[in-house]
Amino acid sequence: MAKQIQAIRGMNDCLPKDSGLWQYVESTIRQVVASYGYQEIRTPIVESTDLFKRSIGEVTDIVEKEMYTFADRNSDSLTLRPEGTASVVRAGNEHGLLYNQQQRLWYMGQMFRHERPQKGRYRQFHQFGVEVFGLAGPDIDAEMILLSARLWRLFGISEHVTLEINSLGSAEARAAYKEKLVAFLRTKTDALDEDSLRRLESNPLRVLDSKNPQVQEAIQDAPQLIDNLDPESAEHFSALCERLDQFGIQYRVNPSLVRGLDYYNRTVFEWVTESLGAQGTVCAGGRYDGLVQQLGGKGTQGVGFAMGLERLILMLQTLELDKQVSAPVDVYVTAMDESVELYARQVAETLRDDLSWVRVMSHSGGGNFKKQMKRADASGARIALIIGQNESEQGQVAIKFLREQQDQQTVSKDQLKAVIQQLLSE
Ligand code: ATP
Ligand code: MG
Repeated sequence: MAKQIQAIRGMNDCLPKDSGLWQYVESTIRQVVASYGYQEIRTPIVESTDLFKRSIGEVTDIVEKEMYTFADRNSDSLTLRPEGTASVVRAGNEHGLLYNQQQRLWYMGQMFRHERPQKGRYRQFHQFGVEVFGLAGPDIDAEMILLSARLWRLFGISEHVTLEINSLGSAEARAAYKEKLVAFLRTKTDALDEDSLRRLESNPLRVLDSKNPQVQEAIQDAPQLIDNLDPESAEHFSALCERLDQFGIQYRVNPSLVRGLDYYNRTVFEWVTESLGAQGTVCAGGRYDGLVQQLGGKGTQGVGFAMGLERLILMLQTLELDKQVSAPVDVYVTAMDESVELYARQVAETLRDDLSWVRVMSHSGGGNFKKQMKRADASGARIALIIGQNESEQGQVAIKFLREQQDQQTVSKDQLKAVIQQLLSE
C-alpha cells in the first residue's frame, strides 16, 4: 500500500465533529464585533519578513525562534504571519486608513509559529483580534476589555477567566525604568538563565516575562514599572481602572505583565484561565501608540488584542459548554423505495424553499426502513419524514419524532411548512 501522507506536526485538521463548535464560536464573535460597530479587515497570510522584525522586535520569542521564514523563488524573504497586528498596521498605512482617522477593525484567521506543539499550543493556530486606531483615551482600552468580557458572558465562561492589567508607561518612562531594572538584575546574575542574561543586555524588560520559576523568584523584588510611570500614563491607567470598576469588571494589577511583543506602551492586559493547564492565556493585548510610526506611517495611536481560538474552544470543551452547538441536521427525509425517490426529493426541495433556516438532509443510497431510520438517527435530526408509496400517492408526508416521545403524524404536503415551522420552534 502506498504510504499515507500526514499533516505537518502542530497543524491540525478541523474535523466535522468540531466544525460546528468552531462555526458557533466564529459567528458569536462576528455578532459581538458588529454590535460594537467594528469592521473586518483581511490581510495576506504571507508578508515580508521585515514587517515582523520591525514591529514585533528582534529580541522576542517570536522573531528569535518561532517564525516560518523562507525565501521565495525571487529570493525575497517571506514569513507566514505569526500574529495579526503588524499586518493590519501595514495594510492601514499602505491604504491610508490610519493617519488622522479613527478605525475600529477586527480580523480572524490562521497564524503560524514554530513552537513545541502541546495542548493549547500549535504551529498553525487561529486568532481573532481587534485593532482600534486614532483614539488615545482609556475609554477605548476599556471598550476593548468590555467587548472581550461580553464574549466570555455569551460563551458562559466568565467565571473561568480573570483579567490581569498593567501599564508599560511612555517610552521615556520605560527607558528610565530600564536603567533601574538593569542595575537590579546585575545583582542577580547568578540566578538568571541564559535567555535572561542575554535579554538583560538586549531587552531587559523581557526578563520580567520569563517563565522560568528560578528567574521569577530572583526578580520578585525587582523595581516595578507601575511605580515608575510618567504622570500621563499613571493617569491613563487609573482612569482605565475606574472605568472597569464602573462596569463591574474585576481585574488584578499584575506588575510583571510586560507581554512578549515589543510594540506595547501604556495599557497591557491578559485574560487568563486555570482550566487549560500551562497554556493559560486566552486573550492578550494592549496599547501600541508608536507602532504605526515605527512601520513608516504618520503617528497614530493604536490599541488591540488577540484571542487564541484553539484555547477558547478547548475551554468550552473542557467545561462541557460545547453542548450548546446543535446537530447539523433538523429534518431527515427518507424514501422507502425507488419509485418515491423523486417525490421525496421534491418534498425536501420545497421545504428548503419555504423554510430556508431549516437544515434538511435527503436520504441517498436506498435500503430498508430500518437502515434509513438508522441513518436518520445518526444525522442528529429531530424529525424524520417518512415517505413511502402511500404518502407519495396521496400527496402526504409522515412525520416521525426521533428525539421525543410523540406519536407519528401524517400531514398533507401543503401543510408541511406550517407544521415543521411550529415543531422546530418549540
Ligand atoms: P504564550 O505566552 O502562551 O506563548 P503569547 O504571548 O506568545 O502567548 P500572543 O502573541 O499575545 O501570545 O498571542 C495572543 C493569543 O494567541 C495568546 O494569548 C494565545 O491565546 C494565542 N496563542 C499564541 N500562540 C499560540 C500557539 N502557538 N498556539 C495556540 N494559540 C496561541
Ligand atoms: Mg508565545
